[in-house]
Amino acid sequence: MDMELTHDTASMMIPAGQGLAFRIRTGDRFRLVDTEGGQVGDLFAFAADDPGEYLSAAHTRTAVSRLFPRIGEHFATNRRRPILTLVADTSPGAHDMLIAACDAARYDALGEAEHASCADNLRIALSGLAMTTHLVPQPVNVFMNIPVGTDGDLTWLPAPSRPGDAVTFEAHMDSVVVVSACPMDLNPINGERPTSLAIEFVTPRT
Ligand SMILES: [Zn+2]
Repeated sequence: MDMELTHDTASMMIPAGQGLAFRIRTGDRFRLVDTEGGQVGDLFAFAADDPGEYLSAAHTRTAVSRLFPRIGEHFATNRRRPILTLVADTSPGAHDMLIAACDAARYDALGEAEHASCADNLRIALSGLAMTTHLVPQPVNVFMNIPVGTDGDLTWLPAPSRPGDAVTFEAHMDSVVVVSACPMDLNPINGERPTSLAIEFVTPRT
């Protein structure tokens, strides 16, 4: 039997510069796919029953003693509970958990008053699930290439992901996940041409 038939491989497109929110249950897996390559995806995750508990980059770095988890390691919440595990990664492996989500103030400072942002995408996407949050957690910047120099300097480089590269996550708890196809086009992180992302569900769903 074709194993694919046992899985719901439904996918959802995230248009360039926009966001998407979805619910997942404990044990569910999803792939974040860079459809055209070179695109950063800001990923947020909240406990399904309490948006006050969310994936925390700082608590994750504490849990794994690294700047970013290895395959098989987990992302932790602000209450130090595992929320997502990094299951697989077909990309070159550059991801960031140091840079804040882009927001209106960031674009204002860059001279673009009316500009889509990952922070706005988070709020808009959550509102579609009748959820609100009063803060913008530090996101997991999937495919974002911000190397840390030995002198502590950060360098902003284009995402090295290729078309079709994907990162797979598994939920440790019932969660609400938000992914923003970062609209930043004023520095090189998206190759100065933001493009779309996709979410594929790869585990059986009821
Ligand atoms: Zn962004």
